[in-house]
Amino acid sequence: MDCIFCKIVSKEMKSDIVYENDMILAFKDINPQAPVHHLIVPKKHISSMSDCSSEDSEIIIELFLRAKEIAENTPELEGGYRLVINNGKEAGQEVFHLHLHLLGGRRMSWPPG
Ligand code: 5GP
Ligand code: ZN
Repeated sequence: MDCIFCKIVSKEMKSDIVYENDMILAFKDINPQAPVHHLIVPKKHISSMSDCSSEDSEIIIELFLRAKEIAENTPELEGGYRLVINNGKEAGQEVFHLHLHLLGGRRMSWPPG
């Protein structure tokens, strides 16, 4: 399987890691859309939100709680932050390994593009 985020998780590919534990890895997005733009990924390969099942509930809880913790430890995000999951091509998903975008450090607009 040729998955760039699996390669980042295995350290076969370099990334700028901001947090790691046995279940998840958080690293800086290579093409940041905001002053803070981290990607939080499960170490287990899950292609997308659509491919999650109740079997993955622990991982999903971990992704969100760790995103919150990382945000709380990032001074630029004191005023707020956005968590995004693009699910499927039509929603803009480009990498088919589940990931949470943690964005902030600037005023965000709504609705998203
Ligand atoms: P998606 O569009 O699938 O929701 O988001 C994929 C994200 O992964 C994009 O924001 C893109 O910039 C980021 N990305 C793609 N390839 C790499 C890479 O090799 N390293 C890092 N750090 N980010 C990547
Ligand atoms: Zn993967």
